[in-house]
Amino acid sequence: MAIRKIRKLGDEVLRKKSKKVTIFDEKLKQLLEDMAETMRWANGVGLAAPQVGILKRVVVIDVGGGLIELVNPEIVAKEGEVLDIEGCLSIPGVTGEVARPKKVKVRAQNREGEFFEIEGEDLLARALCHEIDHLDGILFIDKAERIFEEGSEEG
Ligand code: ZN
Repeated sequence: MAIRKIRKLGDEVLRKKSKKVTIFDEKLKQLLEDMAETMRWANGVGLAAPQVGILKRVVVIDVGGGLIELVNPEIVAKEGEVLDIEGCLSIPGVTGEVARPKKVKVRAQNREGEFFEIEGEDLLARALCHEIDHLDGILFIDKAERIFEEGSEEG
């Protein structure tokens, strides 16, 4: 396993659309493991492959309930709306108030290519939406109703 470099705002890779994974091989497993290690090292709750410079539809999330690996994730159902604060490992020092669904259902594949569904509520729903947005080059600052920068007074 290895910690990969987290790409920061301004890096073009963050704005590109990621490609669907079609080959479930050792390289994919390595990517998933490196992403989990990088996320933990950075104290994040989620990381998408473009954040480490790889334009593949791969996401890892851990909001405290254990590691979730998602390959080719898609939101298939959503319910409700919650306005809350979120941040991003690619945009250090900035947080924003973003409206996200209260609950989502996501269909994805695991590292072997098997399909499964996962339901998330509140923080997990927010993380799922945030990370899946990364796969389409969308950042939370695009959707934020208010942005807060570290060290600046709120206003
Ligand atoms: Zn992010």
